[in-house]
Amino acid sequence: MQKPNKRLEGQTCIVTGGSSGIGKAVALAIGRDGANVVVNYHSNAESAEEVAHQISKDSLCGDAIAIQADVSHEADVVEMFSTTIETFGTVDICIANSGIQRDAALTDMSLSDWQRVIDVNLTGQFLCAREAIREFLRRGMRPDVSTSLGKIIHMSSVHQIIPWAGHANYAASKGGLVMLMESICQEYAPHKIRVNSIAPGAIQTPINREAWNTPESLEKLLKLIPYKRIGVPDDIGSAAVWLASDESEYVNGTTLYVDGGMTCFPGFTANG
Ligand code: NAD
Repeated sequence: MQKPNKRLEGQTCIVTGGSSGIGKAVALAIGRDGANVVVNYHSNAESAEEVAHQISKDSLCGDAIAIQADVSHEADVVEMFSTTIETFGTVDICIANSGIQRDAALTDMSLSDWQRVIDVNLTGQFLCAREAIREFLRRGMRPDVSTSLGKIIHMSSVHQIIPWAGHANYAASKGGLVMLMESICQEYAPHKIRVNSIAPGAIQTPINREAWNTPESLEKLLKLIPYKRIGVPDDIGSAAVWLASDESEYVNGTTLYVDGGMTCFPGFTANG
């Protein structure tokens, strides 16, 4: 765990899906760096409250609250932003992290499993980015807290470029996210808004438990990771803090892969 810092002091950050896995680690890391944090959750109020409590306890200068919202529902997302603005005055950073899998072979995939993944993983990202940008533009620059008008970080996946049999809905949602993120960047960078994605590789969280919870499955997984360890949520937390801070001011429209080299085609290590 990183030491508390104050790179995000005076700023407010919404982290969607902040009650578990990567979102929880990101929310805690952002809080340690001094921001106020909104820990969004879908259904696990108790975990979200615990994360918010931990942030308020550990932070040198920030505070935290938990807010329920289904990111695929427009009214919920609008309400989450207005409650955040009422509580903390504005939003400076939005980390759209929520995501789900509904896996099936394509021929067995129901329309509802296709649709739900697109709704949460892509439409949810659009709704959060749209509300964040509306608020950034309304509020205007605050040079005392950041050199950017606002920052958006989309949680993508290595599957934005690695095709994934049996997970076509998920891979399509993350592939779509690249163009969403880059188009938003092109449109709003002139307003000093920064929009980037983080593409995690295999990170040990509830979403992929069966890929690491037995020695056999872990061994199989490690063949895909040149660095030879599975990622942990804090690997993503520290990347998110850097991307949210002015240290990365000139980084815009980029995907930061945090994957131990997974996207470097390890299958070709021994001459393919
Ligand atoms: P996770 O299941 O712990 O987290 C997903 C979070 O999204 C949960 O907190 C869940 O409650 C929330 N969520 C689900 N539906 C929601 C909705 N409708 N509205 C609001 N929140 C909702 O798994 P994770 O691994 O921490 O996943 C976080 C993100 O990281 C996802 O976008 C996932 O695609 C991405 N990711 C994870 C990995 C990995 O290896 N774990 C790899 C690449 C990308």
